[in-house]
Amino acid sequence: MMSQIQVVRPRNLADALRLLDDAAVDAPLRPMAGCTDVLVDLHFGKPAPAQLIDLWALRGELGGVRWSSEGLHIGALCTYAEAVSHQRFRDQLPMLTQASLLVGATQIQFRGTFAGNVENGSPAADATPALMALDARVRLVSAAGARDVALADYYTGYRQTQRKANEIIESLLVPAARLGCAGQWMRKVGTRAYQAITKVGVCAIFDWHNGRLSDPRVVAVSMAGTLRRCTHIEAYLNGKRRDDMNGTELRAAQALDLQPIDDVRSTADYRAEVFARLVEQGLRETSGRGG
Ligand SMILES: Cc1cc2nc3c(=O)[nH]c(=O)nc-3n(C[C@H](O)[C@H](O)[C@H](O)COP(=O)(O)OP(=O)(O)OC[C@H]3O[C@@H](n4cnc5c(N)ncnc54)[C@H](O)[C@@H]3O)c2cc1C
Repeated sequence: MMSQIQVVRPRNLADALRLLDDAAVDAPLRPMAGCTDVLVDLHFGKPAPAQLIDLWALRGELGGVRWSSEGLHIGALCTYAEAVSHQRFRDQLPMLTQASLLVGATQIQFRGTFAGNVENGSPAADATPALMALDARVRLVSAAGARDVALADYYTGYRQTQRKANEIIESLLVPAARLGCAGQWMRKVGTRAYQAITKVGVCAIFDWHNGRLSDPRVVAVSMAGTLRRCTHIEAYLNGKRRDDMNGTELRAAQALDLQPIDDVRSTADYRAEVFARLVEQGLRETSGRGG
């Protein structure tokens, strides 16, 4: 099957954007970065694209991490291993560091990219929900220019994104306000601690000021067809003290955000109950009342 697929290798970003633009509308080029998802798709016989565009050689332009007054720019070709090698990244983004170290094993962490994880669109992904809780934005580029989309709005359906066929992800931006913010918290429940696909997960920002929760974020993993920001839970929790929250109200807010899926990994009932308990655990642990 592989021999029938043509791979084009642009030398630089301008070249890549031109190739994407020139591709026929009915035969778009599919980007490949670390290829750790693309190859799995091909192996399992998912519809093979006629042509792939290999971005790996663009690491000089699209790799690495860069800090600016806007925040942290994670280049599209930045791998997990590269990001977590930066002390500043680990200090400011403990949740994203934890998530990065949960992706596959070391080999995958040296090839897999954040942008690939985002674009792959799995509702059970590890790094993308952490980025979503951190209010990350996706920068898309095409020959016509650039546009930014909030990651929380990026998914339009199961493995469907807002990216157009002639665009690629150029970078992901974690806004400055989220760098080093308190209350970054995540938990993943799988069949084992590492190298397991998430059954239920939460990535959250639970930042407490004078005993009240301030502008929380809650992202649900493996609960729906897409990763899902839980705006009803966030609205319920915002400004509350620990003693003002109760499990019944929290679950009522959760039911407005999420109608969990039933699939081979878990039942909807299990997911709903475990998710509620994970949110409660996060609130306990970040408020300094871990018991
Ligand atoms: C053994 C194994 C274990 C894994 N374990 C985990 C895990 O624990 N957690 C987890 O979340 N994932 C896991 N994965 C999935 C995968 O490693 C990650 O999703 C990884 O981040 C994908 O990055 P990549 O660069 O390899 O993407 P690729 O495979 O190159 O691409 C993935 C998708 O993104 C698109 N794409 C890539 N780059 C761009 C770009 N710049 N612009 C637009 N589109 C782009 C591709 O067209 C494709 O649709 C695992 C995979 C394997 C093979």
